[in-house]
Amino acid sequence: MSQSITRQNFDEWMIPVYAPAPFIPVRAEGSTLWDQEGKEYIDFAGGIAVNALGHANPELRKALEAQAAKLWHTGNGYTNEPVLKLAKQLIDATFADRVFFCNSGAEANEAALKLARKYAHDNFGPQKSGIVAFKNAFHGRTLFTVSAGGQPAYSQDFAPLPPQISHAVYNDLASARALINDDTCAVIVEPMQGEGGVVPADPAFLQGLRELCDAHNAVLIFDEVQTGVGRTGSLYAYMHYGVTPDVLSTAKALGGGFPIGAILTTERFSKVMGVGTHGTTYGGNPLAGAVAGRVLELINTPETLQGVKARHHAFIEQLTALNDRLKLFKEIRGLGLLLGCVLNDEYAGKAKAISTLAAQEGVMVLIAGGNVVRFAPALNISEAEIAAGLERFARACSRFLAEGSS
Ligand SMILES: *Cc1c(COP(=O)(O)O)cnc(C)c1O
Repeated sequence: MSQSITRQNFDEWMIPVYAPAPFIPVRAEGSTLWDQEGKEYIDFAGGIAVNALGHANPELRKALEAQAAKLWHTGNGYTNEPVLKLAKQLIDATFADRVFFCNSGAEANEAALKLARKYAHDNFGPQKSGIVAFKNAFHGRTLFTVSAGGQPAYSQDFAPLPPQISHAVYNDLASARALINDDTCAVIVEPMQGEGGVVPADPAFLQGLRELCDAHNAVLIFDEVQTGVGRTGSLYAYMHYGVTPDVLSTAKALGGGFPIGAILTTERFSKVMGVGTHGTTYGGNPLAGAVAGRVLELINTPETLQGVKARHHAFIEQLTALNDRLKLFKEIRGLGLLLGCVLNDEYAGKAKAISTLAAQEGVMVLIAGGNVVRFAPALNISEAEIAAGLERFARACSRFLAEGSS
């Protein structure tokens, strides 16, 4: 390199929407990562639930490199083999019989909400435009999806916001019932809130939303951007709950680190989206299609999905033992390998301080709001990496308690 790159350069050159860690990762393998100084980290963050098969996975490299030698991009005037194979895999594996590809979770939710609006307008008239979402939800950062999200801090500076979006209380069916009516075109919900604090839905809540949507001809959208592709131990969380949405958005782990998003739906809803009604330049390009196809093949197997459940128990057992000793968390919750440790009230707001100490001790963890330390590791993380990472995490927690929580 002609110039040495430092973390300081971020503060000089980048629009400051992030506050990245003080180190720069340069290389990784499986769930172990190294920074510029050669310091080693165990990765419990998984690129925010993205690197579902770990870093530099040999099978995914093979798929990417083979496709890279053949065809990268053609635009949507042409279709391609990898994306059609991927579409068929998703259709065979889920409730869906139609798929649309894009590049991210926000774009997938944007497409889902646009589809719902068009379905409602085409079939029931222009007054049917209401969208019911939930407080503390996260659906992405486009203006439409950030407005559907239930964290006003992320949207209020960008007003005027798209109208006719209202927010009920998550896991409170009565509050949703009060907002859903015949002018509702869509209900959008995460089967487990990720960014909002790792909060699994109550089964009766999702079932109740299904019934309300049926009663009012509203499209039920499950945002499975974070919960999808094996994260919960089922291929999609809707399978775990036994409640089938009309439209499902998926991204994050779908590409295992290569950007891709998609919505899945059925013929009934997809047919309102005729030629020219929606689109994207990169969505469904051959590189993303080839990698995601291999990701799905590797994840949608009984071994991988059972493995998620086994690793869930390993995490819960070791985190519970840690907490019996340190009394730091009031709850350890989540499904599969999306786990949240909720800080006791006396440590409220200090999750970030713990994640900073964890990195110093050599383990990368996430937070979900100020009060929850979040884990979203690779689905194939090894037993040894789990044990080593949790030992480092325990040291970070002990230091947090010893050094005071400033
Ligand atoms: C991450 C996330 C998104 C946004 O995905 P991007 O790829 O960042 O646009 C949307 N919904 C949920 C539930 C997410 O976790």
